[in-house]
Amino acid sequence: MLSITTDYVKDTGCPAPFLEKIAAAGFSHVHWCHHWNTDFIYSRHEIKQIKKWLGDFGLKLLDLHASAGVEKNWGSLAEYERLSGVELVLNRLEMSAELGGDAIVMHLPAMEQNSLHRKPLYKSLDALLPAARELKVNIAVENGSFEAIESVFNDYPDPCLGLCYDSGHGNMGAGRGLMDLDRLKSRLMVVHLHDNDGVSDLHRPMFTGTVDWNELAGIIAGSAYDKCPSTEANMRRGPGNETEEAFLSECFQACEKFAGMTAAFKGEKNKTWRIL
Ligand SMILES: [Zn+2]
Repeated sequence: MLSITTDYVKDTGCPAPFLEKIAAAGFSHVHWCHHWNTDFIYSRHEIKQIKKWLGDFGLKLLDLHASAGVEKNWGSLAEYERLSGVELVLNRLEMSAELGGDAIVMHLPAMEQNSLHRKPLYKSLDALLPAARELKVNIAVENGSFEAIESVFNDYPDPCLGLCYDSGHGNMGAGRGLMDLDRLKSRLMVVHLHDNDGVSDLHRPMFTGTVDWNELAGIIAGSAYDKCPSTEANMRRGPGNETEEAFLSECFQACEKFAGMTAAFKGEKNKTWRIL
């Protein structure tokens, strides 16, 4: 079991050609990342077709990157925009439930710059968490500011609300991400594994940059995360001279290597990941 993001080439348009290549590269699961930052609402016809494609290619949904929206924004100070944002997130919760995933990923509004956004965000969480519980799809907040995430976690000790750790984001700036993850690892629900140079969010394949993968494997092994490795590498911000097949093969091998490292920390020969 290994997973890759669906948007390794692009995040809009027909996903079928990419799903086919993902399956051909050996991946069993996908992180649905199409329309992760748009106001796009998936209709029941589109969800049905995606379910068919996943079935046809022998793929399963691991988790899904939901959208904090542009004009439909769950943290908006304008109430009509916020309510539309709640509908947008609800659309992704329902889509995940239908496709068999166990979590959606969300970005927080920029609360550290403007504490006013905490109020609308909490109204949105109050509306969405009961739906998440009923649908059995968790909401995982991606790093971003750990300070903001931690304060939201303190206010919502809800088991349906947890963390998505993005290894690239965690490696940037002062590179304190691993320390922050270690503190919040009991709430880790989703991983976005990719690499960079510590300066730019390059989304390169794992083991090609400066992320300390050994330390990360150790922390994940001792965390609440029990699904397979899932990479969010993409071809858009890298060297750009590889074929899709070569890129996917590199990503697959990197995920396999990381699975082995995590299993070794757990003292297991073959890591058995929770099957979705
Ligand atoms: Zn990410």
